[in-house]
Parts: sequence; structure tokens; C-alpha cells
Amino acid sequence: MGNENTDEKKNKTILNFIESIIEENLKNGKNDASVHTRFPPEPNGYLHIGHAKSICLNFGIAQKYKGKTNLRFDDTNPVKEDVEYVDAIKEDIQWLGFQWHSEHYASDYFEQLYQWAIQLIKEGKAYVDDLTQEEISKNRGVPTSPGIESPYRNRSVEENLDLFQRMRKGEFPDGSRVLRAKIDMASPNMHMRDPIMYRILHASHHRTANAWCIYPMYDYAHGQSDAIEGITHSICTLEFEVHRPLYDWFCENLKIHHPQQIEFARLNINYTVMSKRKLLQLVQEKHVMGWDDPRMPTICGLRRRGYTPESIRNFAETIGVAKRENVIDISLLEFCVREDLNKKALRTMAVLEPLKLIIDNYPSNKEEYLTAVNNPENPTDGVRSIPFSRELWIERSDFMEDAPKDFFRLTPGREVRLKYAYIIKCENVEKDDKGNVVAVHCTYDPETRSGMPQSNRKVKSTIHWLSAKHAKTAEVRLFDRLFNVPEPDDCCEGKTFIDNLNPNSLQIVTAFIEPEFINTNTLSNYQFERIGYFCIDKDSTSDKPVFNRTVALKDMWTKKQILA
Ligand code: ATP
Ligand code: MG
Repeated sequence: MGNENTDEKKNKTILNFIESIIEENLKNGKNDASVHTRFPPEPNGYLHIGHAKSICLNFGIAQKYKGKTNLRFDDTNPVKEDVEYVDAIKEDIQWLGFQWHSEHYASDYFEQLYQWAIQLIKEGKAYVDDLTQEEISKNRGVPTSPGIESPYRNRSVEENLDLFQRMRKGEFPDGSRVLRAKIDMASPNMHMRDPIMYRILHASHHRTANAWCIYPMYDYAHGQSDAIEGITHSICTLEFEVHRPLYDWFCENLKIHHPQQIEFARLNINYTVMSKRKLLQLVQEKHVMGWDDPRMPTICGLRRRGYTPESIRNFAETIGVAKRENVIDISLLEFCVREDLNKKALRTMAVLEPLKLIIDNYPSNKEEYLTAVNNPENPTDGVRSIPFSRELWIERSDFMEDAPKDFFRLTPGREVRLKYAYIIKCENVEKDDKGNVVAVHCTYDPETRSGMPQSNRKVKSTIHWLSAKHAKTAEVRLFDRLFNVPEPDDCCEGKTFIDNLNPNSLQIVTAFIEPEFINTNTLSNYQFERIGYFCIDKDSTSDKPVFNRTVALKDMWTKKQILA
């Protein structure tokens, strides 16, 4: 008994509130004890990280309870939708690692929805209204007092049928009439005050072309589409909570399968914007390179940036499912990708801001190959050979002429280890006329190479390097946050989120990379040792690789904020 109780408790703390609802339903045998969810994007833009949360939730729940998930395009607004988006959405879901049970389009249900509208008209539950959009909104009133009924509300069934059929035939211009559900103009829920079901729109649809000139509203199409597909749990974001009575009203009055709508808090992340309208504006006004710009919060942007599907799924899992809105710190997303890439990314050395280092006692005609580990986290990734010679490139920031006490890297008189190679000692520096350091002169200790007697000698730091005569060059794109304030949407008067763009969100440098670097497979992930995670961009060519910085090795931003 006691054991059972603790087990139950343990189980309860692990379940999120949606899983609790589902487990209760399964226990009671509701929907024949089955689970069928759906992911319902409107194909009016590319998916973003917020959608990824919804995808992980809908597909994840179905996987957990051995159910199914449909992909349904909510394509009821012909003006903003396009097949380009349909294709991109499918690619993104599959890349995230999910496969839908079947693919649907709300537009496939237009005829059925139309027939159901006729049914409601015949039952006196829907009417054609000739008021303008403005008059309808005005008459709807405010929640605290009843709205005003339309003078067309009590048209006869025959007249409503005739007008609605003629609306379909295209006899009336856009905006001249709508079909409304006859519910309750005094309801405290504004969505129940005779909501619009159909509007006239003489516009071509990306799938149905010119077959229709009346289009169903979201609220009239969504629940019924769920019903047609036999969805059991219709999971959506919190803003639809107030729509739920209407969702229920249509299912009940049409006497069709009645899925359960469950709302959860949408994902918000700081330092970015997430609405498709705003993302489209960034693309159209060319503030970014496109929907897949690595600074965008879109799934294709994150992919191009070097994010892995696992890191995004882990992120969704980590933030969990809440009932109340909150803002997630973007460093959590960065943490998730770092954690995943640490396990997977092959290590390589690159120098982003080069400074010449000359080993005076190393023969000028000599070169040797040293062994480097490809990934200390995964021995099966093996080792590689890297060339070493008298002249090297090191990172400018790894040298300081007048170093403070706590600077342990290279400075005159100090020893450091060159990773995979020797211990060197800085002897002196070479400067140009202006006093800038152009080269650092060192000596090396041949006994300190790995396998040599002195190989374990301890020095305070290890730096990375490349053999100058062997290194190749590459373009490296260093991305920073797209916006320079945590909540770009919250602008002062007269400003928009565009004014909060970070002007330094992209810095391009020419870097040196290892000579063996011939892999130009887009998206391959690497760790540039001591710098960060990088991936190969699609702009790469065989003579000029282009790398995107996914994320720095450490959280530079938080550090910067603390120092500021
Ligand atoms: P946006 O407001 O960004 O344009 P949307 O809600 O209009 O997005 P849809 O294509 O209608 O985009 O969304 C498809 C699904 O993804 C819906 O179920 C929606 O609730 C969910 N979704 C959208 N944005 C988020 C988010 N930020 N967090 C969680 N789920 C989201
Ligand atoms: Mg939407």
C-alpha cells in the first residue's frame, strides 16, 4: 500500500499537466483509450523555436502514449499563404526528428465545412449579416455590457440559405456580407457574440485555386478539422483558452466528434522576436540574409547556425510545459547546444585573430607531424596529424606584452604549452614603426613533446596554434544576438522592434584553419579548440570554406553583462 502511494506520487511529479489529463482519459477509456494529436501550422511563414516546442509536445505525447500525430496545415487565409512555406515546414519537422501519421489541409475540408454551415443555417443557428466589419465590431460592444443584435439576425432560414449559396457562387463583392453563428450577443465571452464563420474573399488559394470565394474563419475551421481527423487532444497555446467555448459550441451543435482542447503557455525567449509577421518583416526589409539567417529564431536559422535536432528537443524538454506565460533566457538554448556539441563535435584548431610566433631554435627547414585527438569525449573519433614548423599563428589575445599577474598565457619570460606540441618560452617581441607587436619570438624545449621525458612538465596554460606555412584560410561569421535588449518588442514611444536591432550582430573575419580541412559538408559541426562551436555554412566552396559560429565555448554574454 505504502509503496503504491509513493510510486503514484513519484509518477505525478514527473507528469506535466497535459500528460496528467491524458493519463486520466486513458484510465477512463475515453476515445477508446487512444491518443491522437496534431500540429496545425498556418503556412504563412517559416517555423520558429516556439513552434518547435509545440511540435515536441504534440509528437512527444503521441510517442509516449503510442498514439498518432497528424500534420495539418491550417490554410484558411489564402492571402498570406504559400507552398514555399508548406515545404519548409515539412522539412523542419522531419529535421527535428518527427514523422507525422498523415498530412492534411484545412482546405481539404472546405466542402464539408460548407455543408455544416448549411446545416447550422437550417437549424436557425447561423445567419447572413450585411453589416460592415466595423459595424459588427462596434455592435459587439464590451465584455461588461451586452452587445447590439444585428438587424439581419432574424432573417428567415430560406433567405439565409439563398444568400449564403449566392455568397459561394461569387455574386457579392469582398466584405459585403458574412455568415455568423447565432449564439449570444450578451455573452461575457466576446468570442460567443455571434462570431463570424465565413467571409467573402475573391482570392486565389495555393491549393484550391479559384474554387472558393468564401473562406472559413479560424474558429469555424479549426475544431471541425480536428473532429474530422479524430483528434483526441487538441493542444494549443493559451491565447486560445477564450476560444474554447466556441470550439465546444461548434462540435456540440454539429453533433460531431468532440476533441478536448488543452492550452499551454507559449514559449517566449529574450533577445529575439517570435511572431511570424515580425520575422517576415526582418526578411523583407533585409535586416537579415533570409528566413534561414543564423541569427533568426527560425528552425532553419538555428539549423544553419549549427544547432542539432537533439539540442532543440532537449531544450523543449528542459523548459517543460507550463500553464502560465514566462520568458526563457536565451542562454538556456545556448547551454543545450553546447552540451550536445561537446559530445559530438570534432575538435580542430583555428586562429581567428592571428599573431605570428617564431620559434628561433627550431630548424627553419624542418617540419613534423603531431598527433591530435579528434574528440576527447568520444575515443572512436580517433586522431589526426597536424603539421608543426618554425613559424606559427597564435591567437593575438593569447599574448600580452605587459601582462597583469593573473594573465597566465604568453608574455615575455613565460612558458606555455602549445597544444599537442611543445612547451615554448617567450623570449622577445618584434614591433613595427608604430610600436605594434608583429611577431613573438620564442624558444622551444624539444624534450616536452608528448612521449618525451619532459612531456608531463606542468605549465600554467596551453594555447592553440597553426603552422603558418601550412594553414589554410576560411571566412568565419561570428554571430551575436540579433537584438540588443532583452525584450525587443517592448519599445519606447515612436520606436519599433526594428530600432532595437543589434548593429553588431554579425562580424566577419578571415581566419586560419588546419590544412587538412577539406570537408565542406554543410552543417558539419566542429569545436574550434578554446574558442567555440562552429559549423560549415552553405556558402562554402572548396577553396573558401565559410564557418558559422554556433555558440562560444563559454557564455560570453552573461560574462559581459556582469562586467558591465
Ligand atoms: P505566430 O504568432 O508566431 O505567427 P502562430 O501561432 O500564428 O505563430 P501557427 O502556425 O498558427 O503560428 O502555429 C502552429 C502551432 O504552433 C499552434 O498550435 C500554435 O499554438 C503553436 N505555436 C506558435 N507559436 C508558439 C510559441 N511561441 N510557443 C509554443 N507554441 C507555439
Ligand atoms: Mg496563427
